[in-house]
Amino acid sequence: MLVSKNKVVSFFYTVKDDNGVILDQTESGKPFSYLHGAHQIIPGLENELEGKNINDRFSIHVDAENAYGLHDDNLIMTVDRTYFGSEPLEKGLQLQIQSQDGFHIVTVVDFTEKDVTIDANHPLAGVNLNFDIEISDVREATKEELEHGHAHDHGIEDDYEENVEDDDNDIEFNEDENEEDN
Ligand SMILES: [Zn+2]
Repeated sequence: MLVSKNKVVSFFYTVKDDNGVILDQTESGKPFSYLHGAHQIIPGLENELEGKNINDRFSIHVDAENAYGLHDDNLIMTVDRTYFGSEPLEKGLQLQIQSQDGFHIVTVVDFTEKDVTIDANHPLAGVNLNFDIEISDVREATKEELEHGHAHDHGIEDDYEENVEDDDNDIEFNEDENEEDN
């Protein structure tokens, strides 16, 4: 079965930047699954997966603008330190903040006792991504998956999904370091 709209696709991947630094990878036996055509993953990756088959192995280069976008200097801003309460800060710390249009990951660039400079670009904005991919499964989506607009494989539960933004088309690279290892 080939990858096409409304198929649930499972694949293993390793993704590196242009210097060969591994940014993220699936664990052995735990492929990533998504609903093809539902904009669940970055567009540059979804386009390249179209038409591929089970057991296909291939490499994909995705330019930053087709991945997490170019780095926008206007998204670097200084906010009052009190906004962060008593949270201990350090340069490079990534925090999740909530704004009118949902949750965002911001990176602490610098801080003083009064202000904090944050970068609200996605941590991978401006980064070209190089994927090594192996497709492990392609199947028809269930009616429920089509209604929800996402795949239900690999332990994703609906009470968790309610907290996930549907329009957030990213794989969670490097954002899960504080989660428990199951
Ligand atoms: Zn669901």
